[in-house]
Amino acid sequence: MELKGKKVLVVGLGKSGLAAALFLRRRGAQVTVSDVRSAEALAQDIPALLDEGIMVEAGGHGLLTFRRQDLIVVSPGVPIDTPELVQVRNFGLPIIGEVELAARFLKGKVLAITGSNGKTTTTSLCGEILAAGKLPVAVGGNIGLPVIALVDDSREDGWSVLEVSSFQLETTYQFRPEIAVILNITPDHLDRHGTFENYAAAKEKIFANHTAEDVLVLNADDDVASKVAVRAKSKIYWFSRKRIVRQGACVHDGAIIFRASEQASPEFILKVEEIPLKGSHNIENVLAAVCAARLAGVEAEAIRSAVMAFHAVAHRLEFVANVNGVDYYNDSKATNVDAAMKAIDAFPGGIHLILGGKDKGSDYRLMRPLIQERVKAVYTIGSAAEKIFTHVEGAAPIVDAGTLDAAVTKAAEAAQPGEIILLAPACSSFDQFQNYEHRGQVFKDLVLARRGVREWQS
Ligand code: ADP
Repeated sequence: MELKGKKVLVVGLGKSGLAAALFLRRRGAQVTVSDVRSAEALAQDIPALLDEGIMVEAGGHGLLTFRRQDLIVVSPGVPIDTPELVQVRNFGLPIIGEVELAARFLKGKVLAITGSNGKTTTTSLCGEILAAGKLPVAVGGNIGLPVIALVDDSREDGWSVLEVSSFQLETTYQFRPEIAVILNITPDHLDRHGTFENYAAAKEKIFANHTAEDVLVLNADDDVASKVAVRAKSKIYWFSRKRIVRQGACVHDGAIIFRASEQASPEFILKVEEIPLKGSHNIENVLAAVCAARLAGVEAEAIRSAVMAFHAVAHRLEFVANVNGVDYYNDSKATNVDAAMKAIDAFPGGIHLILGGKDKGSDYRLMRPLIQERVKAVYTIGSAAEKIFTHVEGAAPIVDAGTLDAAVTKAAEAAQPGEIILLAPACSSFDQFQNYEHRGQVFKDLVLARRGVREWQS
């Protein structure tokens, strides 16, 4: 793809938009960045862009700015139905995302992971396993570095392990990862994708350009994710926690095993009890990572030692502390109903559950049976509190705490030694916090303050 002299507009100046703009400029494109946020809000990044000769349009999008381009690169945070984008798309202007742009320049092979939940955990784990297998590997995408930042150091003999969200996939066209993984497809982001079908279709773009030479790893236990197999031209490998698979990774007699094909004999990878992560969902993540890494060429022993050395990524069912006999867990990243249910399911009972934040159009009624079975009390926070109340009323006592601070205090007063206080909010954080990391950090600080510890190093 030739960029020299091309007029390129980058829409949305997030982390990946910034990286894309600088990349395009270094390759000789005439770059403009457009963002709806004010110049003041973007003040931190504007000088670096201007220094590089990149033009900046702040405080809104001008239709003329959009029309004068040869190519538009859109950030994942920008809805594709933004009116200016819709108009120029109608004029036939190519609009791609940062992942698509990067993929056209990346050297080596790509292992890409998508799903509603578990992407970050599985992507980090795959990165660790490939490194343990002595393969040259870089990790990026929706996690850590934008994909475009991996391009310059990418090697023909190496792997890029990428976490890709539905928003990033939505704007891919030629993206063709050698190994694609779909962990699960459960309702999320319906506020932006509109329908579950649109959301699932975006996820399927991960294998849209596959041929029989490419690999697709699918979750046999997930109703929606397993059904996409009929539409894939890829070579399909399965992972399952519940049944034996003919080709892929599964649990057999308390051990994780891998089978390269129906004819191949099963290989022992590690015992389930050796997995240091909590919850059955993490067994699924490990199975997916084992399958993908084995197919990338990593030997069983290296996989085993990398899995055993892996610890929960911060804010993902992360153990915080035991205070007065009560265990506190931070699952601030449980921003949808399915993730929150997986978190509840990781404990046998005695849970004081902190739920709420900004609603994403979710159906909390799905949580009722599990709440009834495992949860002693629900403490609601944020703007979704009322909806949650109507959806789960009667399944457990509900305390309308309002803030996270009050929820921790009330839960701590009620919890008995041996019980669990779990932040698994099933909502996004933006009504009361900057993001889920901020929410998780506030929770950890509140917990540790109860113990009298001032500093927390995560
Ligand atoms: P993502 O990057 O897809 O958001 P994370 O690894 O960050 O995934 O985990 C997000 C949330 O989902 C966490 O709360 C975590 O406990 C939960 N989770 C992790 N893996 C799974 C899975 N396979 N199925 C359901 N929930 C999961």
